[in-house]
Amino acid sequence: MSFSTVLSASIQGLKVEFVHVEADVSNGLPAFHMVGYLSSEVKEAAERVRTAIRNSGLDFPAKKTVINLSPATMRKRGAAFDLPIAVAILVSLGVIPEEKVRNMLIIGELSLDGCLQKVPGILPVILEAREAGIPVCIVPKANASEGALVEGVEVLGVRNLQEAFAFLAGNEKLEAEPYPEERADEPAENFLDYSDIQGQEGVKRAAEVAVAGGHNLLLVGPPGSGKTMAVRRIPGILPPMTLEESMEITKIYSIMGLVDKESPLIRQRPFRSVHHTATKAALIGGGLIPSPGEISLAHGGVLFLDELPEFQKAVLEVLRQPLEEHQVRIARTHGNYVFPANFILIAAMNPCPCGSYPDFERCTCTPGQIQHYLGKISQPFLHRIDICVEAPKVKYESLLGKRKGESSADIRRRVCDAREIQNRRYAGTGIVSNAMLGVKELDRYCGLGKAENRLMEQAFTSLRLTARTYHKILKVARTIADLEGQEEIGERHIKEAIGYRTMDKKYWGR
Ligand SMILES: [Zn+2]
Repeated sequence: MSFSTVLSASIQGLKVEFVHVEADVSNGLPAFHMVGYLSSEVKEAAERVRTAIRNSGLDFPAKKTVINLSPATMRKRGAAFDLPIAVAILVSLGVIPEEKVRNMLIIGELSLDGCLQKVPGILPVILEAREAGIPVCIVPKANASEGALVEGVEVLGVRNLQEAFAFLAGNEKLEAEPYPEERADEPAENFLDYSDIQGQEGVKRAAEVAVAGGHNLLLVGPPGSGKTMAVRRIPGILPPMTLEESMEITKIYSIMGLVDKESPLIRQRPFRSVHHTATKAALIGGGLIPSPGEISLAHGGVLFLDELPEFQKAVLEVLRQPLEEHQVRIARTHGNYVFPANFILIAAMNPCPCGSYPDFERCTCTPGQIQHYLGKISQPFLHRIDICVEAPKVKYESLLGKRKGESSADIRRRVCDAREIQNRRYAGTGIVSNAMLGVKELDRYCGLGKAENRLMEQAFTSLRLTARTYHKILKVARTIADLEGQEEIGERHIKEAIGYRTMDKKYWGR
């Protein structure tokens, strides 16, 4: 047999595309040609594969070898085709029986000594293989535990080309990788705990409400007010994930090559802290064929932007669309890419460059400086924040005092109950949390009684609220009622929610 085909796959954005690796080995002038719209890394496979085959103690005769990767319309990148190319050559040479590779997907990068290197995107590839009814996949051993998360596909992890050859030539057996051991979904012991923080009850409460309803939160306060301390403890109160959510998030991490071999399934909601020097591409995703950015790595969890005004304005502005749509669209000339990006935005900032405003005795900034500083946060950006709170300055000793505050475990229990109520309420609607409610849904889920309506009317006139702010107050009030397990939104829920809108008026005048 001189012609052979092996099935492999490639990741384009979040999508998996199957690739047929064809090899033709014939008696002609010795040469190695590779065709099929290949990037330079794929073309370099020629050298890696030839050397790896020889270094694995296999014969690589001086013949004419042509490799074609189809479909030809799709640009192929990366080194994950090395192994399928090597196998296709060995089938063409007749040392691996052709029927052995039928109905099988093969993927992996080779080093020159024939060892297999980990490749990104194994989880989505195996999921797609299952979808297509492919029963067996050969992957690098280092990726096998990740692949084994997909039930219903036999995932065979191989360490090197020799092992793959021995199995495919029929000499050796390979054990399918077992399903990775389950890990408890309780937060790990080493999470920072809210019981360490005394005082700052307002900030702690705002974090609880934000997490319970999926609301974006902005904390304003002087340096040393414990903003960051409070935010760093948020991972410990995030609700657990369903297996489906875990798989969705693990898929994104898989594509970025960030899956841990020992515990491949991501069970903790992500908490991504992004530095203010981050570029647009790092934040929302980028590249010729885009890969996910921080906002997609924060999907299902929290994106934390500390020192908010230090970010480039243009970088903050690109967050507006994903904050509204809970996913990010990246346009390229050859098509559009969509990545999930449903995260809670938590941002923190000083009230002015020196940090002391509005304490006029201590603030050394000019009104112009303050205005410029606050002005870095645009109105449309502020519109996407549901909860604004001030973190007042406190003495450090009273922040980390001996008397314990409420523990994260207690707060988390309330958060979980409130999330459970939302899950039941929004089952089958595609809505995950109160923060996602659209204007149309507000009537249905946030109906008010007479007294509550009157309270909202009063606030609307006296605080000169916009319609947008009005809706936000309703959504946050819904969450506060859910935290109490109350079906009806009451006056005290509305009052607390209004409280989260007064601070941005103070600083930004709206
Ligand atoms: Zn100042």
